[in-house]
Amino acid sequence: MNYEPIIGLEIHVQTKTKSKMFCGCSTDYFGSDPNTHTCPTCLGLPGALPVPNRHAIDLCVKIALALNCGIRTESKFDRKNYFYPDLPKGYQITQYDKPFGENGFVEYDVNGETKKVRITRVHQEEDTGKSLHNGTETLLDYNKSGVPLVEIVTEPDFRSGEEVSAFARRLRQILRYLDASDADMEKGQMRIEPNISVRTPGKKGLPDYKVEVKNIASISVLDKVVNLEVARQTASITKGNTPIQETRGLVDMSGKTVSQRTKETEMDYRYFPEPDIPPITFEEGVIEEVRKSLPELPQEKKHRYISSLGMEPDIAETIVQDHSTARFFEEAIRDIKDTAIIAETSKWMVGEFAMLEKEHPDHKCTPAHLAELATLVHEKKITRTTAKEVLEICFSEGMPPGTVIKQKGLEKVSDESELEGLVDKVLEANPQAIEDVKQNPNAVMFLVGQVMKESKGQADAQVLKKLLEEKIG
Ligand SMILES: [Zn+2]
Repeated sequence: MNYEPIIGLEIHVQTKTKSKMFCGCSTDYFGSDPNTHTCPTCLGLPGALPVPNRHAIDLCVKIALALNCGIRTESKFDRKNYFYPDLPKGYQITQYDKPFGENGFVEYDVNGETKKVRITRVHQEEDTGKSLHNGTETLLDYNKSGVPLVEIVTEPDFRSGEEVSAFARRLRQILRYLDASDADMEKGQMRIEPNISVRTPGKKGLPDYKVEVKNIASISVLDKVVNLEVARQTASITKGNTPIQETRGLVDMSGKTVSQRTKETEMDYRYFPEPDIPPITFEEGVIEEVRKSLPELPQEKKHRYISSLGMEPDIAETIVQDHSTARFFEEAIRDIKDTAIIAETSKWMVGEFAMLEKEHPDHKCTPAHLAELATLVHEKKITRTTAKEVLEICFSEGMPPGTVIKQKGLEKVSDESELEGLVDKVLEANPQAIEDVKQNPNAVMFLVGQVMKESKGQADAQVLKKLLEEKIG
């Protein structure tokens, strides 16, 4: 029987602020010595008063709006009470019943199909410290304590690991487009917790259990975790067991998990309003202003590229993945009207340009250079082989393609009289190849390649082919 996976996500995102959520300590703690970014507030010392970080709240609202949430005009912070060594004050300041954002949705693409996940809520809270278990002792580092954290909760709308990871990638892009977080998962800036259960075919409603997997810091691991967990639960049900409600932790990067705790009922956190922070109010006008300030997000951008620029979906997807790539591309095509040249530019952008950029991130090629190159190729002024060479020179020297071509004499050679000498030379050197062509006309491409080499990639392949065919007869 095929059981249907039912998956929801909780995602924690550290937002990009200079100081922590409720104190002035710097958030730039990555790689610093333990406990060097702390003060009485983020150490949870008695009597220290929290002061909310305005910029962090603005970023949370921005994220909520980008995820199509409604924003409350009145909101508040609450205390979530529990004991853990990395939470010295005995409670976390979070938002319970009045989160900043609620009832949103996000669209993302899987295998050429657009899917939609509902967003339950987006709220602001603070990060905890970090426990380092070192054999027999536990060390505590409070540098991370009090760093602004936005929690995003989705409805259980996902039906596969593929959907979950496609959404996670899109969400990470959105956070970066908004400049709300670097969402660097290796640095713990985005952590994902899937809630997974499986449903018997034909059944309606949600299963009466779910398995939560804690703190996943890689999208490829997330995909593996979901697939392994769905398989584990399916096997358990097939054997006649009922999976239990539990929390599991990651064992290693293969996606294997182990049970950490089983909870029959929801832990009682005895939430109550944070008495040291007054309620937060937003005016409608302010919310509208933030909404208007949102950039075009990757999903809309991709669909615009496809519908109004006629771009291939895979190329559009590759360009929108990175905000700076999309900006570079849009700058390049700003003054181009011809969609064929736009298409040529997009292909160079995701092909040679992307490859070279990986090797030389500090290159000198400008959007105008790329546009000029694509135009020259489109107008058949240079061959593709030459264009690659020109692009490399643009990268290292920052010279416009036109100038490179003139200086190096790289124009495409279509003139038959100029090419004839090279053709004769190659024919003379390859008598066997001539016989091959007589047997199989397609073998002429070998000779085309040989003459092309002689011309250093500058010959017009069409003209070459015609000349060779005429000469061989
Ligand atoms: Zn502090």
